[in-house]
Amino acid sequence: MLDIQSIRADFPILSQKVNGKPLVYFDNAATSQKPKVVIDAITSYYEEINANIHRGVHKLSQLATDAYEISRVKIQNHINAKHSFEVLFTSGTTHGINLVSNGFASLLKVGDEVMVSALEHHSNIVPWQMLCERTGAKLTVIPMDENGELIFAEFEKLLSEKTKIIAVNHISNALGTINPIKKIIEKAHQFGTAVLIDGAQSTPHIKPDVQELDCDFYVFSGHKICGPTGTGILYGKEEWLNKLPPYQGGGEMIKEVTFEKTTYAELPHKFEAGTPNIAGGIVLGTAIDYLNEVGFEAIAKYEHELLEYGTERLLEIEGLKIYGPKSLENKTSVISFNVGTIHPYDIGTIVDKMGIAVRTGHHCAQPIMNFFQIPGTIRASFSFYNTKEEIDALVGAVKKAVVMLS
Ligand SMILES: *Cc1c(COP(=O)(O)O)cnc(C)c1O
Repeated sequence: MLDIQSIRADFPILSQKVNGKPLVYFDNAATSQKPKVVIDAITSYYEEINANIHRGVHKLSQLATDAYEISRVKIQNHINAKHSFEVLFTSGTTHGINLVSNGFASLLKVGDEVMVSALEHHSNIVPWQMLCERTGAKLTVIPMDENGELIFAEFEKLLSEKTKIIAVNHISNALGTINPIKKIIEKAHQFGTAVLIDGAQSTPHIKPDVQELDCDFYVFSGHKICGPTGTGILYGKEEWLNKLPPYQGGGEMIKEVTFEKTTYAELPHKFEAGTPNIAGGIVLGTAIDYLNEVGFEAIAKYEHELLEYGTERLLEIEGLKIYGPKSLENKTSVISFNVGTIHPYDIGTIVDKMGIAVRTGHHCAQPIMNFFQIPGTIRASFSFYNTKEEIDALVGAVKKAVVMLS
């Protein structure tokens, strides 16, 4: 059991008032709030050990380098990667996907295929389209059904030796669907196809085990898991990271530079050109420690309770339609909905006046909105620091908005 009141006290922003009302923060799928330990760790880095890493022989540089590398190992343990050099620091999910898609440009030829799914975030569509434009490869898309679930039989039909890489999310940001990634990975490997998992929405709720999943790449963002913005992780299997060329050239990623030829550094440095977000990388480790102290099992259980309660309460509202899986077992704590034909933006604006932060719009997933033929949805996404009372406040606010707008 989580002590929600004491958890809430860890997050300074949650005691704020917005528009004169207590803040109800239900936009967790866009970014999470930060606990005080994370905020304080950023300050203490700059007050105590700030220096550039992997370069200086001086004391501070060594302290900063150690802290950065300790954080890498923490993340390695958290996702159960075989080697710490398979864990690359990035600026976020988008950066990680672009690093891999750019690398694949050197491996693809005309006639090859790249597969994504109908449930992807724009960051897991556009880089692959750019890759296809560059190489002449073809983009294929795993379709979904009315419940916002991928159609596995269609996936099997699309998959062949031509498919060189599949990029699919673990959990959809727009609908909360949990995708059968283990089955997808298993099937893909029968054809020698690499699989990249976009874990931006799974990592806030569950602890991924990359060896158990046997994925080739797994990417996520620090800011969605209580960490600082501008941080993220790309996990890649050693053999794949060795196959891919460097993404950016610069300092730190080289072994030897001459004007005739440059040789590249070993992993992970080959992919970490330039001075990274040192404070961010270190503090991402602090955020992961914090979440593990709260405990992922307890988090998942409590968030599921919020999902069940929120679903039941919101469905009291006449004309309210929830998009996504009917079975809550296939879903994380995201509720994407509309009420009748009222524009989601109008409801979002009114509930904001009551201090409630929800996301409205296409959630960077326009193909999903096109599928349902809607301009967007209202998305309430719950975190472990949210409460049932806050859900009651949302339901009351939506009811009021509906009266005002009809
Ligand atoms: C947020 C998100 C992204 C993009 O993450 P950034 O932090 O903006 O790089 C990609 N995919 C999914 C599923 C997301 O939720």
